[in-house]
Amino acid sequence: MTTTPSPTRGRNATVTDIALPAEPPALQPPWATPSRVALLQQARDFTYSVVLPQANEFDRTEQTLPAAVIDGMASLGYFGITVPKEYGGLGLGVFEYCMFSEELGRGWMSAASIIARGQGLGTRFSDPVRREATIRRSALGQWVGAAAFSEPETGSDLASVQTVAVRDGDGYLISGEKRWCGNAFEGDFILVMCRIIEADGSSGPIETFVLEKPRNSFPTGVTGTPIEKIGYHGIVSWALTLTDVRATDADIAEPFGFSGAEGRGLRAVENGLNVARVQTAARAVGLARGAVEDTIDYLQERVQFGHPLGDFQALRFGIAEMLAKVTQARAFYQQVAHLMDSGVPCEKEAAMVKLVATEMAVEVTGQALQLHGGNGYTRERAIERYWRDARLTTIFEGTSEIQRKIISDRILPRPAR
Ligand SMILES: Cc1cc2nc3c(=O)[nH]c(=O)nc-3n(C[C@H](O)[C@H](O)[C@H](O)COP(=O)(O)OP(=O)(O)OC[C@H]3O[C@@H](n4cnc5c(N)ncnc54)[C@H](O)[C@@H]3O)c2cc1C
Repeated sequence: MTTTPSPTRGRNATVTDIALPAEPPALQPPWATPSRVALLQQARDFTYSVVLPQANEFDRTEQTLPAAVIDGMASLGYFGITVPKEYGGLGLGVFEYCMFSEELGRGWMSAASIIARGQGLGTRFSDPVRREATIRRSALGQWVGAAAFSEPETGSDLASVQTVAVRDGDGYLISGEKRWCGNAFEGDFILVMCRIIEADGSSGPIETFVLEKPRNSFPTGVTGTPIEKIGYHGIVSWALTLTDVRATDADIAEPFGFSGAEGRGLRAVENGLNVARVQTAARAVGLARGAVEDTIDYLQERVQFGHPLGDFQALRFGIAEMLAKVTQARAFYQQVAHLMDSGVPCEKEAAMVKLVATEMAVEVTGQALQLHGGNGYTRERAIERYWRDARLTTIFEGTSEIQRKIISDRILPRPAR
């Protein structure tokens, strides 16, 4: 018997024929408040009506996030979830940021990823006027940036960045190679992490510069080449070369937004990564949930041996375990996000939830593809997108090995060098 893609969720789904899953996960006490429940429903409606059908089309053809998704998220305030209301943001916490990220990630991880380039990122200027102006733009989705931390020779070990900002008169000349910089060409600014070299040639601290620029261009002195990836389409990842890029002290900024954004230079990056890791866990939960929901449909649609696949106990138990793991990871990220909003230091917990949720997403999306049989190994259905994108979540924002290192370094004495 042949099967066709589900009319409700497969690759061929259109804007109008996508339906909400029969039992979407509801917010449970103690997290459910009337306001959160309403916001969750809004995000869910937007994801099913806009994000998912756009993902089905634009990911397959490896295009960047379309205006329908970007502008829609901007109008809903998703670039300013954690930006205080007095600056035009939603004034919400890490919990809501992650809640929205799961919903968007259920449709397309790239949509949930691009909102991380708002949230007050790249606004910590010493000049209060420039600072306030960029915070307001950030909240509206008009100050959406890129993070150039990783380099060809420096990934997990960010303290070893080789890009330098050499003091030159009253400014700096920045030179070096960066790799993986998502949204670098498309965005409004690039955060460049580099080591300061003083006028006498001595090595200074690591700082992050904000290179402001018009969209769809590179700053003077920067060239770039897109990296060909196997997934995470929607956001172009660039290899950058910086040659004597001029910047000033006024361009030095702490990189992250309003949650966990203390410190400067490398410390600020590490603090920002704590929030990013919980958000990555939420993104992973969203795409694993998408894989499970699609598989629940498929098990009822596909008939073998005269029965829907969903009649076979091995597969029923499989889907039960997958859903239990997704639900467990959601409970964990909600707990860590709540602790962060409560001001509890959560470095270890952020690493733990990133590790657990992203490894879960790899496992669950792989199982979901398996349960689709040969149809899973095609581009006819969305399941392969969840599988490809899940594979990235254990690599970026710090690999699983680095999360294990962070956790173990906080529970065991560090080994002698
Ligand atoms: C699609 C994509 C998008 C990205 N977007 C961005 C971006 O926008 N901006 C940005 O700055 N970066 C970005 N990155 C970079 C990403 O953060 C790095 O790839 C990641 O931190 C790992 O670094 P690496 O690739 O250099 O691997 P490496 O550091 O070379 O690690 C290779 C392997 O060794 C392991 N390893 C390394 N050190 C240790 C250790 N001490 N103990 C045990 N195992 C170890 C790693 O876990 C990994 O398995 C992106 C990456 C990808 C793939």
